[in-house]
Amino acid sequence: MNFTDLNKSGGIGSNSSLIELGNFKFLVDSGLHPKEVGKGAVPQLELLDGVDLDFIVLTHCHLDHLGSLPIVMKRYPDVPVFMSLPSRVLAPRMLRNSVNVMKRQRKEQGIPEYPLFTFSDVDHISARFHPLRFEQPEVITKGADELVITLYPSGHVAGAASMLVEHADETVYFTGDLLFDDLQTLPGARIPDMKVDVLVTETTRGLTQRAQDSERDQEWERLFAGVTRTIEQGGTCLLPVFALGRMQEVLAVFADAQKRGKIPRCPIFSAGLGMDIVDYFDQISRETGLIRFRKKVLKQLRVESPRIPQNPGFDKLPKGIYVVSSGMMVEKTPSYSLASCLLHSDLNSVYFVGYCDPDTPGGKLKACTKGEKFWFDVYDLETELHAEVDSFDLSGHADREEILDLVAEFEPQKVVLTHGDPEARRWFAEKIAEESLAPNVIDPEPCVKTPV
Ligand SMILES: [Zn+2]
Ligand SMILES: [Zn+2]
Repeated sequence: MNFTDLNKSGGIGSNSSLIELGNFKFLVDSGLHPKEVGKGAVPQLELLDGVDLDFIVLTHCHLDHLGSLPIVMKRYPDVPVFMSLPSRVLAPRMLRNSVNVMKRQRKEQGIPEYPLFTFSDVDHISARFHPLRFEQPEVITKGADELVITLYPSGHVAGAASMLVEHADETVYFTGDLLFDDLQTLPGARIPDMKVDVLVTETTRGLTQRAQDSERDQEWERLFAGVTRTIEQGGTCLLPVFALGRMQEVLAVFADAQKRGKIPRCPIFSAGLGMDIVDYFDQISRETGLIRFRKKVLKQLRVESPRIPQNPGFDKLPKGIYVVSSGMMVEKTPSYSLASCLLHSDLNSVYFVGYCDPDTPGGKLKACTKGEKFWFDVYDLETELHAEVDSFDLSGHADREEILDLVAEFEPQKVVLTHGDPEARRWFAEKIAEESLAPNVIDPEPCVKTPV
């Protein structure tokens, strides 16, 4: 097998891997780099010049895996894209949102190549999205050669899949993004009970040691306590969340917590793409049973849509809990704008429930201490931070120890490290060697064809 990482910057970014196995050539994911703009955010697709792809697999609908799929599909007008049933429902919606965001960025930031694709491109390519049921092998033939792929649910986010590939007498397992913990809305990963020759694994949390006493349930309890404290002292609570998955999970958990008296009854506000995804999640729950989310959660919580303040720093917001995107408080999103109205008062709180890149406003706010000045660059507004800012370890990725256990169970000859920063990959390489979990560990250099 040959493995080529098309994510030119390495680490986690525009995730996309070209796999050559026997006579087959296929692509796993085609993302957009969240921190780059324009063509710079696209994987190194020039490496596909002259490559006759047989198919593409989409592991899940986060944009760092999905965002450049229409561009690749235009280059390959006949190639099918395999994905899970929920991803088949969610992918077109996420891509249409991406078109809207790019159109706005073209206007506001003058990025001439945006949008990189259009609504009609999305409609067009969606006809080639080929849904596969979990744990049902799909046989793909090419002349006399045969390859079998089987998707397994990988937790992480609705529709997320790991993939087993069997070819001749070789077996390869791609973890995709992986979470073993059960969420309220989504069961954890299911892994086949077998040995594989090659394990291609994500390494996101290679540098993150879970703090003691920070199991998921305890983190939720700590969050409930914070929310309760904020509301009872007459403040407002902001939870910046990702629109896909995290927002619906928070709403479902809060509905349950409110029923059990763990958080007070108070106005809850939610808005944007995530509210739209609520409808899709309801549909996926009803039609596939693969996630557990019903729209009635919104009624239970009496979720209202907030009026996002037009003037930054406005301090007469209706009080309550705001569950809004973006999760990293990216400029001009509802969470960014609301934060500008809340940071000045020690009655309020901002609670992060997901990862924030240190370079994003969310990451910068996490690093800011009380009394320090916080800049809302696009508003040219300076606020002194008095609100409580806290983070809760509710990661969508498996702990590093769990990944090591997975390596131990699969007993692979070779482990290929992907989807992680260089130091995170190094941690895994060292641990796997130290504990003799696999004879070979490969950390492929970006954009270089690596024999595995
Ligand atoms: Zn993901
Ligand atoms: Zn990812």
